Amino acid sequence: MNFKDLGLSEPILRAVREQGYETPTPIQAQAIPAVLAGGDLMAGAQTGTGKTAGFTLPLLQRLSAGKPLRDARGRIAIRALILTPTRELAAQVEESVRTYGRHLPLSSMVMFGGVGMQPQIDKLRRGVDILVATPGRLLDHHGQGTLDLSQVQVFVLDEADRMLDMGFIHDIRKVLAVLPAKKQSLLFSATFSDDIKALADRLLNQPALIEVARRNATADTIAQKVHPVGREKKKELLAHLIRKGDWHQVLVFTRMKHGANRLAEYLNGQGISAMAIHGNKSQSARTKALSDFKSGELQVLVATDIAARGIDIDQLPHVVNFELPNVPEDYVHRIGRTGRAGASGEAVSLVCLDEEIFLADIEKLTRNRIPREIVPGFEAPAGERAEPIVLGRMTIGVGGTKRHAGGGSRPGRGSGGRPAPRPAGGRAPAPGDARAAARRSAAGARRGEK
Ligand code: AMP
Repeated sequence: MNFKDLGLSEPILRAVREQGYETPTPIQAQAIPAVLAGGDLMAGAQTGTGKTAGFTLPLLQRLSAGKPLRDARGRIAIRALILTPTRELAAQVEESVRTYGRHLPLSSMVMFGGVGMQPQIDKLRRGVDILVATPGRLLDHHGQGTLDLSQVQVFVLDEADRMLDMGFIHDIRKVLAVLPAKKQSLLFSATFSDDIKALADRLLNQPALIEVARRNATADTIAQKVHPVGREKKKELLAHLIRKGDWHQVLVFTRMKHGANRLAEYLNGQGISAMAIHGNKSQSARTKALSDFKSGELQVLVATDIAARGIDIDQLPHVVNFELPNVPEDYVHRIGRTGRAGASGEAVSLVCLDEEIFLADIEKLTRNRIPREIVPGFEAPAGERAEPIVLGRMTIGVGGTKRHAGGGSRPGRGSGGRPAPRPAGGRAPAPGDARAAARRSAAGARRGEK
């Protein structure tokens, strides 16, 4: 199978060749013909599968085969709208649109919040064929009458699961309400919850279904490892691993943004260049951090889950979970940053006693046991006990008697091994509500983080 067999036109094939792609990835092989055929699509694909080209290439082809449209004021009308959950992803998708469309007479723009409206208004005035946007700013423009979406022919909802996680469902509904009823709609999601299915029912009309990786599966090209570590030794262990392995381009995840800042400061103090990237940073600071990281000038990027969404760096060699996520699906997303499009990568998790319940959840979800490896000198001191983890206003896990099971066995989950999250200082909810409460809390904490 090569790109020619998929029915793409020469200007697009040329751009693909210039990118150095030789064969389509599985999602591309399936999505490209389906989108070219003109029907709706529901695709299960994680970041790193090549999904962006999977929808961008056929979208460009369809638009270039049609005629440019004009709106009531005679400007080029928007014919394609791509909605993404984060600014970074929006910027990257639009960059892909420009890269793959460089030999076509189509124009595009990216639109997100946190930067001035006026340059976006000016660009809209000149007219664009393809708009890549995050929902909030898109609705701001629509509300102000600076955006006309009445001629959209193709609508792409990228990372739909992440959009719902971030609380964008109302915004998505509002966007759908202002789009024409007759259009081609493509929905991409790494996971398929009931909420995603409900959204798909509403949006899609007899869609083709494509799923390239088992739901919540982790790619085989990613070598995963857990280093059990003492709670107070994590930072030192990370610095040790980076130095010993001479790691460059290391993406490190923390749960909360203040943790990201503290860790970046520590690493810099150790002579390891690091920067934290999260929602409190200005757009220009984030863009600079990302480009320094991509160029290799910056050794370590420390990110929270939200900030990291959509970071697209080719063949990222190392992902480190400095803290495990409390939502196990986030683990899959995080390590999807490495081992992408056939390249191999390494995902290392530094796990202290407090986090063993998260590790058990992750292994259950991915149906994969991650090998443990103790780094001598960094193990938990004898007698260290699990302690609760405070996440925003929630506390998850309780101090128990669990100890690290050492370099081999699965962490124990005795009768007290499934502690109920409870609001700090409040009464514990019924055990059945615990997981849902933790998830709600995590989603809330994420929204607050942005
Ligand atoms: P995505 O899943 O869209 O974020 O893409 C992941 C990465 O794979 C991007 O950096 C692309 O440049 C790269 N990529 C996409 N398609 C191919 C392909 N057919 N061959 C090699 N690399 C690709």
